[in-house]
Amino acid sequence: MRKFIRQTKIIATIGPATESEEDLIQLISEGVDVLRLNMAHADHDWIRMITERSRKVGKQLDREPAIMMDVKGPEIRTGYLHQELEIKESDLLDLVFVAQPNPPSIDGIWQIEVNYDKLPDHINEGDTVLLDNGLIQLKVINSSKEKIRCQVQGDATLKSRRHVNLPGIETGLPSLTEKDRRDSLVGIECNHDFFALSFTRDADAVDLFRSFLKDNGSDAQIIAKLEDQKGVANIDEIIQSADALMVARGDLGIECPFEELPIIQRKAVGSSLSAGKPVIVATHMLESMIDSPVPTRAEISDVANAVNEGADCIMLSGETTTGKYPHECIQLLNKIASRMEDEIQPGLTENLKLFRPKAKMLRSAAMLAMRLENSAVLVFTRSGDLAAKLGALRPNGAPLFAFTDVEGLHRRLRLIWGIEPFLMDFSQDPEITIQNAIRLLSEGPWIDNGDQLVIVTNAFAHDKVVESIQLRVIEL
Ligand code: PEP
Repeated sequence: MRKFIRQTKIIATIGPATESEEDLIQLISEGVDVLRLNMAHADHDWIRMITERSRKVGKQLDREPAIMMDVKGPEIRTGYLHQELEIKESDLLDLVFVAQPNPPSIDGIWQIEVNYDKLPDHINEGDTVLLDNGLIQLKVINSSKEKIRCQVQGDATLKSRRHVNLPGIETGLPSLTEKDRRDSLVGIECNHDFFALSFTRDADAVDLFRSFLKDNGSDAQIIAKLEDQKGVANIDEIIQSADALMVARGDLGIECPFEELPIIQRKAVGSSLSAGKPVIVATHMLESMIDSPVPTRAEISDVANAVNEGADCIMLSGETTTGKYPHECIQLLNKIASRMEDEIQPGLTENLKLFRPKAKMLRSAAMLAMRLENSAVLVFTRSGDLAAKLGALRPNGAPLFAFTDVEGLHRRLRLIWGIEPFLMDFSQDPEITIQNAIRLLSEGPWIDNGDQLVIVTNAFAHDKVVESIQLRVIEL
């Protein structure tokens, strides 16, 4: 039985460093499972081009990665500046809602435009406003309809169009902006497999987005991005309503006290596992490798920790969009994940709730495969649920094969820990379907003579169809 290099999956964000056909071929060959397209930076023509290119390359390699469109979500930014501003500790700074003169200062008070004029309705004296991903901290002194007066909390340089974060403050912005809708329509046209919803604050946001996708003819899966305190407070309902969760540590680390970040990550991974939903740990995993050919020691431990905690996927952003060493990053994730997985004690997720009889049988099938030598689990799935639950059990070291006859689902299954997916027609006769699956596995590099397959499947018992776990020894 061929052991998988790793069971934790890898998501790579695509950008100038990885968009060429050669780079995509290399990424997929190195084992990238999901390609992420970030709508904070991409335009529609590029999305169409890169989707077509990725799908073509995936088919050529007979290893089709899933494609995830990450929609930008509600975002507040500062306005355009003609030149960078050197702002000093204790300076007064007004956040205003109309374009400002150059230089943007009146009577010695900085006048900085922001693109959301309802902000004063949500801000109180003493609140904190963060600019430029938390690099600049402002304390609110008072607020009126026209401006929010703040005091600068440290010397800093302010550049054009910087991100504004408001830790713990509900901004009243819609969960799905007009831009998100326009972008998603292109994702639907391109048949993207996943949509990641930025700043998911509650289950309603997921439901609204699902209705939007459905109304526009898409059954793509929704990945809720956990990025702020409201999302953290509603994490359980978000996990229930979404198809998967992303711990988006970039914004989360600004919106929440940073010492909370590891705790939130651990809880998010644990809760997703118990619910049988895939979970992604994202951002800054190998950040220093954007410029350096080697990671920091802390980054190596961070990746290993995400694997050890049981994340389904680890994700790269800048490392593979604009970084100098995208392929080295993937090779490194392969090494770290594979080595860490070897250290994880075999054992199945205790508190995973399994409801359907066939899902309940998965626990025994997974246990059997872990106990037997040269053994794997094989499931057949049309909804993806059996594969998701099988992966969520985390049968460490046992290869997991999932067969589906649903075009597209074979790509989506790549998000799930440990699952190697295959697209194949199903026969009315379960035995023929099993034989076809075994043939497909033996034609690839997956199984050898004498290997044992634990198969969860329907079987005919006279005129009845019964659920069964079967053990088949491979004789090629
Ligand atoms: C993040 O904030 O960690 C993240 C993944 O989202 P984005 O890259 O859209 O900021």
